[in-house]
Amino acid sequence: REKLNKTTPEDIKSFLHESRLMLCTWIVVRIDGCHFHRFSEVHEFEKPNDAQALNLMNACAVAVLEDFRDIVFAYGVSDEYSFVLNKYSQLYQRCAGDIVSAVVSVFTSTYMMRWNEFFPQKEMEHLPYFDGRAVCYPSSEIVKDYLAWRQVDCHINNQYNTCFWLLVKSGKSKSEAQINTCDLQRTQTLEKNELLDRLTGVPNYYKSLPPMFCLGSSVFWDKESKLVDNGEGATGRIVVGHCNIIETGFWEAHPQILD
Ligand code: ATP
Ligand code: ATP
Ligand code: MG
Ligand code: MG
Ligand code: MG
Ligand code: MG
Repeated sequence: REKLNKTTPEDIKSFLHESRLMLCTWIVVRIDGCHFHRFSEVHEFEKPNDAQALNLMNACAVAVLEDFRDIVFAYGVSDEYSFVLNKYSQLYQRCAGDIVSAVVSVFTSTYMMRWNEFFPQKEMEHLPYFDGRAVCYPSSEIVKDYLAWRQVDCHINNQYNTCFWLLVKSGKSKSEAQINTCDLQRTQTLEKNELLDRLTGVPNYYKSLPPMFCLGSSVFWDKESKLVDNGEGATGRIVVGHCNIIETGFWEAHPQILD
């Protein structure tokens, strides 16, 4: 007690150990909705993909890019979004906790604020909240690999969920549908697509799905179009696309994003 009484403000401050993310590396902040399985059920999201819910997520990502100009690219699918910061970013002196909390906060408050715009008929019944983490990647090539991993995940989950919900909507119980879809997990992509064609009677059904469901959403600054003048000169505009970011074509077409 005697010692504590002598503690100076400097001593108190010295307890703070902020981990600074390694210099000259690409910081990726990935956020993910907490308990969105339940959140999506409570708010009766269309299954397997509710387009309005995804559009709201995309609007939140645009708000984050508008606020944090060091973010050069974002990729979203389901209840998650990844934000890539320029490798020279000095946002919050690269303190992980500060960066992640600020991104999560802007994202979540935008989700709340704009909910009614996307779901005018639905009262929000549960608080949406997101967790987040920051990871450093040492090269743009590894950032592309990271993003490709998220897009592969999007595709695999979407194909699984599309099969599962078609079986459920065709009258199977959820457990039956799960067993059937799991069997399908062992089969090739081609067979899965054949099953989808058979269930729907639509040839090439998977390919007919909206690109947003199959490819997720990419958000980035389009420097070519100089529409916004924020006083500091034209900075372009933020675009939301549904592109294949696994193949190199996208990155060749937009070399400035991860330069
Ligand atoms: P955790 O808190 O561990 O992240 P979670 O319930 O959020 O758990 P996730 O693995 O993050 O689980 O998966 C998100 C779930 O949210 C999906 O499985 C899906 O059921 C639901 N979901 C998210 N977005 C949509 C959408 N646009 N349309 C339909 N369902 C969605
Ligand atoms: P930063 O983004 O760096 O935190 P800031 O503008 O939030 O910048 P702070 O040092 O955090 O600055 O100080 C918060 C400021 O917000 C105060 O200086 C004050 O002007 C204002 N503020 C916060 N709470 C109140 C309040 N209850 N009543 C009046 N003003 C307030
Ligand atoms: Mg999670
Ligand atoms: Mg989640
Ligand atoms: Mg998720
Ligand atoms: Mg502050």
